[in-house]
Amino acid sequence: MQAPTIGGERLPRGNGEAVRLPRGSTLSDFADKIGANPASLVKALLHLGEMVTATQSVSDETLQLLGAELNYEVQVVSPEDEDRELLESFDIEFGEDLGDEGDRAARPPVVTVMGHVDHGKTKLLDAIRNTNVAGGEAGGITQHIGAYQVSTEVDGNERKITFIDTPGHQAFTAMRARGAKSTDIAVLVVAADDGVKPQTTEAVEHAQAAGVPIVVAVNKIDKEGADPQRVRAQLTEYGIVAEEFGGETQFADVSALQGKGLDGLLEAVVLTADAELDLRANPRQKAQGIAIEAHLDRGRGPVATVLVQRGTLRVGDAIVCGEGYGRVRAMLDENGNSVAEAPPSRPVLVLGLTAVPSAGDNFIVVPDDRVARQIAERREARVRAAELAQSRGRRTLEELFSDLEKGEVQELVLIIKGDVSGSVEALEDALTKIDVGDEVGLRVIRRGVGAITQDDVNLAIASDAVVIGFNVRPEGKARELADHEGVDVRFYSVIYQAIDEIEAALKGMLKPEYEEVQLGTAEIVEIFKVPRIGNVAGCMVRSGTVNRASKARLVRDGVVVADNLTVSSLRRFKDDVTEVREGFECGIGIGYSDIKIGDSIETFEMREKPR
Ligand code: GDP
Repeated sequence: MQAPTIGGERLPRGNGEAVRLPRGSTLSDFADKIGANPASLVKALLHLGEMVTATQSVSDETLQLLGAELNYEVQVVSPEDEDRELLESFDIEFGEDLGDEGDRAARPPVVTVMGHVDHGKTKLLDAIRNTNVAGGEAGGITQHIGAYQVSTEVDGNERKITFIDTPGHQAFTAMRARGAKSTDIAVLVVAADDGVKPQTTEAVEHAQAAGVPIVVAVNKIDKEGADPQRVRAQLTEYGIVAEEFGGETQFADVSALQGKGLDGLLEAVVLTADAELDLRANPRQKAQGIAIEAHLDRGRGPVATVLVQRGTLRVGDAIVCGEGYGRVRAMLDENGNSVAEAPPSRPVLVLGLTAVPSAGDNFIVVPDDRVARQIAERREARVRAAELAQSRGRRTLEELFSDLEKGEVQELVLIIKGDVSGSVEALEDALTKIDVGDEVGLRVIRRGVGAITQDDVNLAIASDAVVIGFNVRPEGKARELADHEGVDVRFYSVIYQAIDEIEAALKGMLKPEYEEVQLGTAEIVEIFKVPRIGNVAGCMVRSGTVNRASKARLVRDGVVVADNLTVSSLRRFKDDVTEVREGFECGIGIGYSDIKIGDSIETFEMREKPR
């Protein structure tokens, strides 16, 4: 077949061979793989009706569409797929319980608390944690490790429940977006005095999309104006129908403030798990699970709270978690006690990793340290390669395609480092939501936990990025390097402050917008012919002031006769003046001769509009 051409240019053409592209690839990446010129792919896609630049990430469908056009079989590989393949090359399967039914044992449900802001998610999590501590340690010193386990008695049996201790659905969706399923049941907190609110419905949508059963905690029943029945009625609209209304959803009326109704809520969670889920896992295999929270501890190094999903995690196990690896040196529970083993659904704080993982990263116990190190190194290499590709992308964007379509698109490139993964994610989330219009965008090319390193600064130099340190500082030579190379490094400890400043910076990148400000009007009452200059208008200033060198237009009977004029000369009697005020006569030269008595001259200036 003849290769298709566009505008006389031959397009690259394959023989149906497979091309593997990571999700979020650009046309440049595609071009690289098939040895073509990126510009030709841009044109080919334009021909198919889609306009993108060579360095813009495009959707899976677009990659496939373009592949089909050029006769390549495009296989889009997600980061999760890539990781699965990496693990498979070490003979590790993540996410599957080994053995058969007989090897599985019941495990406690894992619960996330969601709901509208201020409806009492945090208070509820605190109340449950403080009144019901597993192991009968009520009153013990609890600490926030990102998750905790409580027990409750249902029908004479002691039952455990694991709570993820970060309220809100951001954490939930962020993990889900990465393919990590951490939650079995969602507790939807709705304040009885406030009812269903936007984030309530959002939470419902997220839970339903994930196929996670909901238990409703109707909170603040101690408050005046509390109307728990109204909450029940409102939620029926979303398909959440209480048992007493003939539905299947468990509701519990609680007061997180007074610690009331908590047992009923825990029971509702257990009953829902029993009725709707069959939660089992094999406790006898090598442990696997996900990281829920992680940070760099001054004394203890990287610490991560992991949720064991299958298998049993033990001190001394060789483990890989995100880009970190190591032997489990110690495990602590939410009371700060050491734990020797953690069975399925048990959250524990793990010490001994080489690097801080991100929330949602999987953890896997592997045969030995060597395998753990190799997997971690391969992951790290892949992340670095992706970052580099992104920063390279910016160069090409500027060099080749800056004006291709939208004119000049400006972009603020950021590197975010923070003390805990939760705050880095929250900050990134908030920053990427700042919207100042289409002309400027924001892109985060690296995010991570820990001090700002030389490597961060180097990446910032290479990609013209601003470095943000949230509760962290540059280490060693990083600050010197940043100073020397003029890298903008900013420190924050309050998220809102960071948002304000970045928003201001983005606005500053916008091209200034000007508006016209009227200065004055003058009526022409006489016309003087001046040799070599032309007609000069003898005027009476009717309003405002007329200034020399200001912009002007000529208006006759309400119609603009000439625009884009300048007050080139301004005189009172024989004297040149710079300004004439309302009620005074003057001579105005505007470099335009076709003037008539009765015309008016309007003067104005262009002022920059604040954004
Ligand atoms: P979140 O934004 O959903 O995490 O809400 P918080 O847990 O921070 O609670 C918001 C406010 O509601 C705080 O001032 C709490 O003290 C208050 N609050 C939470 N639960 C109750 C409750 O059961 N009764 C009353 N009266 N106030 C509550």
